[in-house]
Amino acid sequence: MQPTGAVHLGNFLGAVRRWAADQTPESFHGIVDLHALTTPQEPGAVREATLDLARVLVASGVGPPHSVVFVQSHVPEHTELAWLMECTAGFGELSRMTQFKDKSAANESFSAGLFTYPALMAADILLYDAEEVPVGADQRQHVELTRDLAQRFNSRHGETFVVPVAVVGAAGARVMDLQHPENKMSKSASSPQGIVNLLDDPKSIEKKFKRAVTDSDGEVFYDVAAKPGVSNLLSILAAATDGDPEQLAGGYTQYGPLKADTAAAVIEVLE
Ligand code: AMP
Repeated sequence: MQPTGAVHLGNFLGAVRRWAADQTPESFHGIVDLHALTTPQEPGAVREATLDLARVLVASGVGPPHSVVFVQSHVPEHTELAWLMECTAGFGELSRMTQFKDKSAANESFSAGLFTYPALMAADILLYDAEEVPVGADQRQHVELTRDLAQRFNSRHGETFVVPVAVVGAAGARVMDLQHPENKMSKSASSPQGIVNLLDDPKSIEKKFKRAVTDSDGEVFYDVAAKPGVSNLLSILAAATDGDPEQLAGGYTQYGPLKADTAAAVIEVLE
């Protein structure tokens, strides 16, 4: 995970909570500070955010003695292997990465690192002979690229890398912005009202869910395309209570109680 900004509910339900549940002494969790440099940072900010993220991971139960937490820049092999990955990847395939297309379209100028970021991410994974990469749905494409690069390298140079698979959870894999439920909840793109941070106090979490955007037809059912706001609430409630969003929908006829229950379930998990 990148040490940029506060850890949010999407990071937690999509990734951190699953890391805590599934860790073994052979699980490696990188705080990827070099990835944070793909966008401009104030001097010292990444160092501070790295420590903050380490605290959140440990508080969530991830790390020693159960598994390893490390800082990417402390291990020089990440950048060494990244160069080999950049020379294995094609310009065209890096240009097709959705995250690069979105972030480069949103900014007038952007770094070359934003473009080559997936090659560094491939190195992050392949260095550890990782078999499984537990991520949110937004990272599936980058893990697919990692597989392609590993296979290409292996066929050119002989068996070198384990070809990994992305493991995306059933519930909470894609938490959406509470104000713009057609977009994912994101450290860089969400407004303060659209994002629930792990360290928000319960009152402000309640307020954010109360003001979450739904729609005007007043019906509760699970359909991501037709009802993105209501479906996001049902998905969050399902992830927080180990339920199923379609089944949960049957218990509601109004938006108010759904919002209140979702807020309460999230507060309980975070507490
Ligand atoms: P990042 O903050 O981009 O370094 O992402 C850290 C982890 O959180 C990755 O595994 C992402 O897939 C996951 N993640 C980020 N945003 C979301 C979201 N809105 N919903 C679910 N998972 C997410």
